[in-house]
Amino acid sequence: MFHRKISAASIIVVLLLMAMKVSAENKVLLIGIDGVQYERILALNTPSFDRLNLIKAYTGGVQWHKSEQRTVSGPGWATIMTGVWKNKHNISSNDDGAANNYWPSIYRYIYNANNQAKIYGFSTWGPIHTKFFIGDMDILTRHAEGGSDDDNLNRTLQVLKHESPDFIFLHLDEPDAAGHSHGHGQAYDDSILRSDRRLGLLLDEVENRELQLGENWLVLVTTDHGRDAWGKGHGSQTQKEKTIFIASNKPLNSNYKQVAAVPNNSFGGLYNEPAQTYIVPTILSFLNIMNDEHWGLDGLPLIGSITATKVYVDIGGKKCGLEWDTNAGTPITLTKNEHVAKFDCDGNADPLFIRGNKIYTNIHGSGCSLQWDVDKGTPLTLEENEHVAKFDCAGHADLMQINSYGMTTTINDTSCGFQWDADAGTPVTLGRNEHVAKFDCIGSPDAMELSELKVE
Ligand SMILES: [Zn+2]
Repeated sequence: MFHRKISAASIIVVLLLMAMKVSAENKVLLIGIDGVQYERILALNTPSFDRLNLIKAYTGGVQWHKSEQRTVSGPGWATIMTGVWKNKHNISSNDDGAANNYWPSIYRYIYNANNQAKIYGFSTWGPIHTKFFIGDMDILTRHAEGGSDDDNLNRTLQVLKHESPDFIFLHLDEPDAAGHSHGHGQAYDDSILRSDRRLGLLLDEVENRELQLGENWLVLVTTDHGRDAWGKGHGSQTQKEKTIFIASNKPLNSNYKQVAAVPNNSFGGLYNEPAQTYIVPTILSFLNIMNDEHWGLDGLPLIGSITATKVYVDIGGKKCGLEWDTNAGTPITLTKNEHVAKFDCDGNADPLFIRGNKIYTNIHGSGCSLQWDVDKGTPLTLEENEHVAKFDCAGHADLMQINSYGMTTTINDTSCGFQWDADAGTPVTLGRNEHVAKFDCIGSPDAMELSELKVE
């Protein structure tokens, strides 16, 4: 008997060590090539890109929404490095200073998970390091800014050959410079072909490490923006400028569309593709350091399965699903980052990500979290003890307790139950089948039914 106990314990220890070993050997190389059009990669003979899974993606946020940002390098790289749009990272041009550190960079996320991690960043376009993420430079094992693409390629190859990197970001700039000087044509295409050859050298070195050292590498290649019709400029909201790509040596999950598609078919359906914001969550998921907070980012992981949940309540015998409302709050006193939470009795419910005791959803390409509102409802017809439930797309989630009775949150030290409101929304502009969701700090929570949806 005693002997058996020891074996069981040993097996668990061995399994734990194996799990740790696997995650310790997961490494990431993120390569950004400035201003490369997805369409030109498809048109040209690019043998190194052909070694990867290449998917279309978008940048520039969602037009007319709070996430909209210019299709230029500053906001683009800030989004690639943080997983959020301009309304969160605060970089709206190439000349801004430090990004909002409330939404950290991928460098910082990796360092926070393991302060022994060997993190490298080599950026031909300097401002990524000298301005936006200058506060992260002291956590990098080594970094460089400026110089030529070949300088920074060689720095990266040396690290891959001789050191033990956990994460490397390499920024290459040549295609963007060629585009600005010459527009579309031979010079621009040649710059992409040279980038493809550099990519090939990097992939060879990564595959060599995998063979020699048994490491498991995720390689991601992306760009910050497309180009206008002439190839010289970029910055606007057009399909050519908003279209980017994400290429990877791993298969990428495309089923996130079932849980986070943007309800908007502009730009040839581009919003049905993943966004630039998906890169950080994908890296976090691959490195097994994705935690509850990361579901508040503006993208979802393209690696690993995703479980979403739909929440329903029974209102007068009808099954009513928890949804967000597109109205940015008028006439309730919500900010432009906030959306009213409501129950819709047409039978639909929006997919939610219930992670620990926080609840997130994706609204128009932005990560938003369930919160209560401090305002006691005016001009809504709520009572003193009641608080509007809302999804906030800029702040962190409020803590929720979900149990078999329903859901509660704590407001000013009082436990408040999640409920629907009998009023059909007036003066909020809700439809006849819709009910405001609220937290009631006197009554008990309404019973909820949860339905899980797993996509992989
Ligand atoms: Zn440019």
